[in-house]
Amino acid sequence: MKKIAVTGAGGFIGHHLVRALKRKGFWVRGIDIKKPEFSQSEADEFWFADLRDKDVAIKILQDIDEVYALAADVGGVGHLSRWNYEIIKNNLEIDTNTLQGVLASKGKKVLFTSSACVYPIYKQSTTDVAPLKEEEAYPADPEGAYGWEKLITERMLLHAAEERDCQVRISRFQNVYGPEETFEGGKEKVIGALCRKMALAQKNGEIEIWGDGKQTRSFCYVEDCVEGLIDLMNSNFSQPLNISGDGDISINDVANLLSKISTKNVSLKHIEGPQGVRGRQSDNSKRREVLKWTPKVPLEAGLTKTYLWVESQIKNRK
Ligand code: NAD
Repeated sequence: MKKIAVTGAGGFIGHHLVRALKRKGFWVRGIDIKKPEFSQSEADEFWFADLRDKDVAIKILQDIDEVYALAADVGGVGHLSRWNYEIIKNNLEIDTNTLQGVLASKGKKVLFTSSACVYPIYKQSTTDVAPLKEEEAYPADPEGAYGWEKLITERMLLHAAEERDCQVRISRFQNVYGPEETFEGGKEKVIGALCRKMALAQKNGEIEIWGDGKQTRSFCYVEDCVEGLIDLMNSNFSQPLNISGDGDISINDVANLLSKISTKNVSLKHIEGPQGVRGRQSDNSKRREVLKWTPKVPLEAGLTKTYLWVESQIKNRK
């Protein structure tokens, strides 16, 4: 039977991906420095391993046919804008070693999870930006050390596919959200943070939003995202591909939607804080053409599931 490894299996998307692969009947090895926080991993084996160590990466991947490479030092805009040196160093080590492990593995096939942070800052300076196509990553001006590292790793993998015996797949995500995402502690992303603030708010109270809240993003529900990843791995497409939701929405509108879902009728208080680029939207035409796949879960339905999950986590520990 085909053996699949998921690195970052203790993290948000990796944990959901392991679950989806198991439902499809695959044998899966989860790899991470930590276990999933909120429920047990469904992986056949779960190995604690730090991929910043090359020997570990080679040993742990040697009998594997396909590697989904999700391990990363990552967080929301607060984390990514604060720890540039640590992020670029840790992620370069993880990704270089993972590739060495893949080249020495049985199947020599890897899917790398890149990010919309590779897209140039100069194309994202207004709230009404045009959707970003894959080829628009160049001329390069990625967002922060995190974006630079993802772009360099994309190139490393593309060159490896040209010059070595290996197959690569590259997804570019943008704001994946859903139950079991981090919602506190400094590494939470926007949806996790907004759900926490909303769950803690009083009825008719207020929540804080970083900046004026007019910045726009595309969002993708996690179960849609992992379906897209599995389809991409099984496709013949070896160039970077956007795996993202369609359309865009402002952070204020997301907060207002959550206010409606929670029935708390909160008002928004805008405060100083990191905001990332002004506007970002994904062009998904290539994804539709290559994968014949489109996300199924509408934003309001996905936000409802996510909010109710965060709210239950907070209520259960009171
Ligand atoms: P996450 O932080 O929940 O998961 C990442 C996992 O990697 C964590 O469990 C962490 O412990 C693990 N890890 C970190 N350092 C490691 C090391 N040295 N060795 C082994 N494991 C290590 O993040 P996520 O949201 O699940 O993201 C998964 C991947 O998708 C990442 O590569 C991320 O950059 C990419 N991505 C995510 C989003 C998003 O919206 N969530 C957007 C763009 C790209």
